[in-house]
Amino acid sequence: MRYEDLYRRSIEQPEAFWAEAATAIDWNEPPRKILEYTQPPFRKWFAGGTTNLCHNAVDRHLAQRADQLALVAVSTETGVTREITYRELHREVNAFAAVLKRLGVGRGERVVIYMPNMAEAVFAMLACARIGAIHSVVFGGFAAHNLALRIDDARPRLLIAADAGSRGGKVIPYKPLVDQACAEAKFPPSKVLIVSRGLDAAQPRVEGRDEDYAALRAQVGDQEVPVEWLESNEPSYLLYTSGTTGKPKGVQRDVGGHAVALALSMRTVYDVGPGQVMFSTSDVGWAVGHSYNVYGPLLVGATSLLYEGLPVNPDPGIWWSLCEKYGVRTMFSSPTAVRVLKKHDVAYIRDHDLSKLHYLFLAGEPLDEPTAQWITNALGKPVIDNYWQTETGWPVLCLLPGVDMKPVKFGSPGLPNLGYRLRVIDETTGNEAAVGEKGVLVIEPPLPPGCMTTVWNDDARFLSSYFGHFRQLLYSSLDWAIRDKDGYTFILGRADDVINVAGHRLGTREIEESVSSHPAVAEAAVIGVHDELKGQVPVVFATLKRSDAGSAEAAAQMMRTVTEQLGAVARPSRVYVVNALPKTRSGKLLRRSLQALAEHRDPGDLSTLDDPNALEEVKRALERGADAGS
Ligand code: ATP
Ligand code: MG
Repeated sequence: MRYEDLYRRSIEQPEAFWAEAATAIDWNEPPRKILEYTQPPFRKWFAGGTTNLCHNAVDRHLAQRADQLALVAVSTETGVTREITYRELHREVNAFAAVLKRLGVGRGERVVIYMPNMAEAVFAMLACARIGAIHSVVFGGFAAHNLALRIDDARPRLLIAADAGSRGGKVIPYKPLVDQACAEAKFPPSKVLIVSRGLDAAQPRVEGRDEDYAALRAQVGDQEVPVEWLESNEPSYLLYTSGTTGKPKGVQRDVGGHAVALALSMRTVYDVGPGQVMFSTSDVGWAVGHSYNVYGPLLVGATSLLYEGLPVNPDPGIWWSLCEKYGVRTMFSSPTAVRVLKKHDVAYIRDHDLSKLHYLFLAGEPLDEPTAQWITNALGKPVIDNYWQTETGWPVLCLLPGVDMKPVKFGSPGLPNLGYRLRVIDETTGNEAAVGEKGVLVIEPPLPPGCMTTVWNDDARFLSSYFGHFRQLLYSSLDWAIRDKDGYTFILGRADDVINVAGHRLGTREIEESVSSHPAVAEAAVIGVHDELKGQVPVVFATLKRSDAGSAEAAAQMMRTVTEQLGAVARPSRVYVVNALPKTRSGKLLRRSLQALAEHRDPGDLSTLDDPNALEEVKRALERGADAGS
């Protein structure tokens, strides 16, 4: 099958296409209508059909693969590896569901899960799905304030937390954070369930609120909890966007569309089927974690590898040794992680037998060419960039090696995924941008199955945030894009990262790419800073590969590189060489904070900041003055 034919069918005959895709999952009652689209842009996929994610991810595999591994949870933080078969997964998920019921959790109620990458996080998610409760996983690295914000938006009946997380061997007790968040929240949960791994012994209990999972697990024993059949469009989970650009939005996902889209993508994009192994290095707290650490692989009867720990611990070969040991077929990671590995000897990769590994997929942020080139050379396998958002839940732009493998073009996440009507639109005129011309990437509704159904409790915000940008009803990705003659799309950065220099609109990402192409540069962040004369000017913050390299000289060369590649208009006004750049816990640059600091404003909400030192670095650099420019 050719990609072009399949794609065309998904666009021209969406109902036939998705009806066929829907046969990949079990339905208790088949859909009455494949697509109900009476209230654009809201849409209902598989209306009237009833199904259950837990049944599809667990129960239905028992007949054929009960003794096959479903989940391998490896922690280099605790030194524990758990190999869990589908039979064991079924037992543990049922027990967890029984505990949830005992705590009074019912269909449609929210459960916040605040846990690192440990097996019980997966059990908890699937247990919620089983009984029709709506889970909302909050990344374990988030601080109490972040947790409180999400609690108040989701208003959970129950909060499930690990006793502690661990990062690079440093134990981070969660209980104090949970207590703090519950104190700060206006709508704290009435029950808190602690899953203890014995990492934090000193845990004062709040009487009447706190429960211990092990104790309840022992009480409920092994019992089967019946699956709650849900209408396809009922909410399955909430997940808050990472908040790089503002207040996080509670992305709401459905049941049937979500299952069908993930099952399809496992086959067509990630090329993983029953009995094969997928290793996503994401955290269960992110969209990738939901889709490709938990639901996707399990929906198709594959084995999912879940990893807790640093990519360099005990040494930078750890991921590849896991690939070798478990025969990983498809690996999924992020450019940030690869940039970490790139600082180490390539032998850490090459010394492993990776004959079973077919692909490495990378997503979440722009994949710069030097990084893509390095990892491609090191692995000798296709490295596939794929572009998506928490909102979409599965790739928007990608290559589909499970259908037919198109050539990789560095710098581009590839072609429109099945079911996505993508356009690149001129921001001001709303007209289609020509080939090679920059515009905003938009999706023509109805959004395909798997994409968000709305913002939790806030249809108005769903409409204004995503559909209010153009005269026509279009979902705006808020990302800049450009399409080449072969239909490959290149992402040029966020629409709100655009700066206006003397009337010229420049994407900061383009300037970043240009700065990064200088051999001395490790990473660069470009922001627009207010300027009396020009409106805004580009300002560069860059880290160097070698800390002993001459900053002033490198900075001056960066300016020259940009001028040569993009023209004088894009020439950075100032270049600051720093030791670290401020990033979120998901590895994204916090440009808005950089910009605020450079304009002597308050850096704003820093609760998603990964390393506070990076911000101090920037402040010091600003005080010290630029390494080039003025
Ligand atoms: P928020 O919407 O709350 O500000 P966020 O956009 O950072 O947070 P995510 O949904 O995790 O949260 O990230 C999606 C964004 O990440 C995309 O809109 C895009 O800007 C960027 N992105 C993801 N994958 C890629 C990719 N392959 N290439 C370039 N950019 C990417
Ligand atoms: Mg976003």
